[in-house]
Amino acid sequence: MIEVKEVSKCFGALRVLKSMSFTVARGEVVCLIGPSGSGKSTMLRCVNGLERHDSGTISIDGMTVDTTSKTIGSVRAEVGMVFQRFNLFPHMTALGNIIEGPVQVRRRPKAAAKEEAMALLHKVGLADKADSYPSQLSGGQQQRIAIARALAMKPRAMLFDEPTSALDPETVGDVLVVMEDLAREGMTMLVVTHEMGFAAEVANRVLFLDRGEILEEGPPSELLRRPQNERTRDFLQRVL
Ligand code: ATP
Ligand code: MG
Repeated sequence: MIEVKEVSKCFGALRVLKSMSFTVARGEVVCLIGPSGSGKSTMLRCVNGLERHDSGTISIDGMTVDTTSKTIGSVRAEVGMVFQRFNLFPHMTALGNIIEGPVQVRRRPKAAAKEEAMALLHKVGLADKADSYPSQLSGGQQQRIAIARALAMKPRAMLFDEPTSALDPETVGDVLVVMEDLAREGMTMLVVTHEMGFAAEVANRVLFLDRGEILEEGPPSELLRRPQNERTRDFLQRVL
């Protein structure tokens, strides 16, 4: 599904990704953990073509992610992304945010898009907030709308970049529940997170990234409980 092969990326003289390779199989949930500045966000941004990698290949269901290609728009539409900062359109209601992509990009008729959006609002537990503007919603509610908005495009995979780290503690749980439900339904997910509980419970595999390299990977039961690499151990001691 998501295939990353020997991907490297520099910002000027700084080598941020050093020949990284990994795959996320269909229906798999892979968590990416690692210290600040290790390249987690850059990796995610390369996967959906927001950032251009220097070498190596990335593909989604066999479609190559090439930011210079005319097809990049359609590849990007297949991958939903949720960021740390909920980046909803402030001048649109929750419903308006959710139907924007389907109507503008997928050319869905408005009535059908609205119906699907309402189903998604139910799914994330916010059916009563359809007409609210982002400024009238809590951080956790905005983030759940952001997830619904990404899902409205019917993506083949979802990328999450620390979706709960900017939230008040009491709203984190609601967002994690929505993500757990998605995982259970078989969504292919690549998740950058500091929520080790989520990684332990939901991830099929965890990758530990340090200085642009995957130093260790394995099922959470092994990587989180019995890390082999000293740097993984150090990192986990600090975050657990
Ligand atoms: P965090 O946990 O703090 O979010 P991260 O693992 O997501 O960190 P990245 O955001 O991928 O790390 O950044 C990796 C490195 O690349 C950092 O040293 C960062 O300063 C640098 N970097 C990221 N984006 C750019 C950019 N647009 N221009 C220059 N350097 C950048
Ligand atoms: Mg980051």
